[in-house]
This record gives sequence, structure tokens and C-alpha cells, in this order.
Amino acid sequence: MFNKTNKKINILGKTREELYDFFIKIGEEKFRAEQIMKWIYKRYCDDVSLMTDFSKNLKNKLKNIIKIDHLDIESENISQDGTIKWVLKINDQNIETVYIPEINRATLCISSQIGCALNCKFCATSYQGFNRNLNSYEIISQIWYAMKIINDRNNFKLKKITNIVMMGMGEPLLNLKNLVPAIKIILDNYGFGLSKRRITISTAGISPVIKKLGKLIDVKLAISLHAPNDIIRNKIMPINKKYNIKSILLSAKKYISTSKANKGKISIEYIMLNEINDKTEHAYQLINCLKNIPCKINLIPWNPFPYVKYKCSNFNKINNFYKILIKHGITTTIRKQRGIDIKAACGQLSGNVINRINKRNIINF
Ligand code: SAH
Repeated sequence: MFNKTNKKINILGKTREELYDFFIKIGEEKFRAEQIMKWIYKRYCDDVSLMTDFSKNLKNKLKNIIKIDHLDIESENISQDGTIKWVLKINDQNIETVYIPEINRATLCISSQIGCALNCKFCATSYQGFNRNLNSYEIISQIWYAMKIINDRNNFKLKKITNIVMMGMGEPLLNLKNLVPAIKIILDNYGFGLSKRRITISTAGISPVIKKLGKLIDVKLAISLHAPNDIIRNKIMPINKKYNIKSILLSAKKYISTSKANKGKISIEYIMLNEINDKTEHAYQLINCLKNIPCKINLIPWNPFPYVKYKCSNFNKINNFYKILIKHGITTTIRKQRGIDIKAACGQLSGNVINRINKRNIINF
């Protein structure tokens, strides 16, 4: 883990296994890895001098070779409904993380990339284009900071984070290299210690990576389907031309067959876009396309952002769609819109570039 230039190693975002290797390499006991992780992830401490179970010598040694670096918060917005959006700064780029408190839990929605390359027509992040993958420490920073803020504020109204969803900016499955170590830390008892049932990766459907994922990690999987057939999906999600609905559902089915976290069911996300995918015939097509797939469906009212000519389906249409799915025995829920007033809702995260959308990108579906 030491590099030739002897630059300080950032410990945040390193897995326990990596830290075991590190401490052994510097001639220290393996259990120091567990101690330092407890300081970082349980006590939100980023200063080696405060780690009281390390001797003065060890502290000095560590201070010369390690750092505990995290991203800083650029701004905070609090919604009327309690949702909080934090913008974190990476050089001249921003990423966004959203805290969503509910009755029995609080979910943190984190980003996996700066921008996104998939160009989904209904999503604000896609208009930012793709900048780069976040590395593990940048993914972990979002959780670390959010948990630290909630812990430090000591406000009984702020619920502890119980769930993590990769539904912020970016396509998590196109950043597996950094995502997997980050998830290991989220699951690790010396890390954030959340259960696999409380972590969800949401994907636009990168079939070969879904297949690979099963060998690497077991967490909940949500597929952003959003269309009942390939014709509509090709138009709103260009990635479908590469990995079509059938291939995505087959690989997801395989993933959940060996997963404990998913309890045998795939989560399907389906945004409701007026006149595009919300008609009665679409509901029947969707039922048909999912007939051999054990799943539950989350209908998502589309959240608006400027310059795009989509509209969210009205309440009656969403309700009609919902009733048809329920009548056919599919577990279905309608997602509550959260944080709309602070642009923190699904698909509204854009690193504030939305005001710079080029007119050529305006959608005429
Ligand atoms: N790339 C991943 C995760 C990021 S998007 C994925 O596609 O799943 C998280 C979820 O929000 C996805 O289901 C996405 O399709 C949905 N979404 C994007 N834009 C939206 C919008 N404007 N309104 C509602 N949901 C949106």
C-alpha cells in the first residue's frame, strides 16, 4: 500500500482486509486495523492524535504515513419535509447526497459517479454528461459525513441513517471497482455495520455486470426499468439498445437466485411519464414482460426539472396503473415524492449544471 513517492495513505475508504495488510507491512499488529476503523466509522474521528488506545509512538508513526481525508460539505439545503441535500465539493465539481427521514428509518441516497454517461432522457444528471468515477473514499465520505453531522447535531428529531441507496448521481455498476470496497465497509461491523438488506444498488441495467456482481457482493438490487417494452425503453434509456429488457431481467433473476439480501424478489423501478409509459396497455405489457420474474414494483412519480418536455402522469393515471398491477398479484407501491422544494428528489441531482443545459438537448419525445 506504500507508494514510491511516500505520499501519505488515505485510510478512509480502505477495507478491513486492506488495513490488515497495511498494518502488517508497517510492522504493527493486525488488530490496529480494527481499532482505527472503530475510531473512524463509529466515533467519526479523523484525527490520529485523538485515538487514545494508540501509544504516543504509534500516533507519531501513523501521523507521518497516513491521513484520514474526506470530502467537505459545500452547502446544505433542508426541505420542508425534513429531507436534507448536501453538496460535496471535489475540486471544481459537485456531487450530491440526500438524507431522507421516514417514520421508522432514514435513508441516505448517495452518488457513485460525477455526472453520468447513460443519457437517460428523463434524468437531470444525464444532462451534466459524464465526468469521472468516484473512488471508494469519495463514496464513503458521503456516508461518513452525513452520519457525523447527524451524530454531532445531537438532535433527537434527526433519525440515524439506517438505509443506503445508490440512487444519486451516476450508474453504480459502471464503477464496480470502487463500489465493491465501499460496500464492504458499509457492511463491515468495524465499518458502518449496516445489514445487506438495508443497502440497495439501483441500476439502469448493465447485464454483464449484474452477472458479475453475484460473485462479489450481496445487497438489494433495484432495476430502473421504466418501460414495458424495448421500443419505449430504447427511446428514453439509450443503454437499452445495448442491454435489452430480456437480458437485464435474466441477469437480475440469476443474481437474486443466490442472494439472501433480496429474499427472492427483484425491485423494479418504474417512473410515471405522462402519455409515454403510463397507459392501460402499458400496464398489461409490463405484467407480461415480468410474468416469470419474481418482483415488486415501485411506481415513481416523475420529478420535473427545467427545459424537458416531459410531464408526470396525473394521480388518476398512476392509480389506474397501480390497480391493474395489484389486480394481477404484483406487489406494487407508489413512491412518495421527497425534497422536491430543494431539488433533492430522484433525477433532480445535477451538480447545479441544469441551468447550463444546451438548447439542442431539449427533449421532444
Ligand atoms: N443509474 C442508476 C441510479 C441513479 S438514478 C439507475 O438508473 O438506477 C436513481 C433512480 O431515479 C432511477 O430509478 C432513475 O431512473 C430515477 N430517476 C431519474 N430521473 C428521475 C426523475 N426526474 N424523476 C423520478 N425518478 C427519476
